[in-house]
Amino acid sequence: MSDNEDGVPDIYVGWMREALLMAEEALNGGEVPVGCVFVRDNTIIAKARNRTNELRNATRHAELEAIDSILADKSLTPQVTQYPLCDTTLYVTVEPCIMCASALRQLGIKEVYYGCGNDRFGGCGSVLGVNSELQHPKHSGYNAVGGYCREEAIMMLRRFYITENTNAPVPRSKANRVLKTEIIPVTHDSDSANKVL
Ligand SMILES: [Zn+2]
Repeated sequence: MSDNEDGVPDIYVGWMREALLMAEEALNGGEVPVGCVFVRDNTIIAKARNRTNELRNATRHAELEAIDSILADKSLTPQVTQYPLCDTTLYVTVEPCIMCASALRQLGIKEVYYGCGNDRFGGCGSVLGVNSELQHPKHSGYNAVGGYCREEAIMMLRRFYITENTNAPVPRSKANRVLKTEIIPVTHDSDSANKVL
């Protein structure tokens, strides 16, 4: 496994690029641009993107969309098992929210790599450490590591939020908004690193 100039293994970047393509599809569909791929044995077994606006359902996040397709495919989960994702790694452009982070833990996800943090809803440390900090009597935790293609993930979100959200109950005019390009670097002593807007 070789490293790129940022010291991030190329293989992780490759999977994250696939997730970013899904996020771009979401953006083109008028959705908050979050995309993901689930990888098992070096192969993508599911990829998905946010579809909350299309389906008018706030639970239709990229991760749950992909999980639904994995669980529905008997070739991927031949036998009923408590932890069907124990050999599966998730690559997602934005830190999983509290809901998704919990679902991933209950399904026994092996590990998670994500792009940028989610300072409003993040369930892997930004708001709540659902992945491992919180104790659970039954489900063991999992590692979640951020910072993979972080700038691209942030810019994708900014591109969405600078446009009018016509699905909002009262659309706010954003005609005067300017796309910011400055990215605050991640620091260990700053909560602001996860902010994307
Ligand atoms: Zn979510």
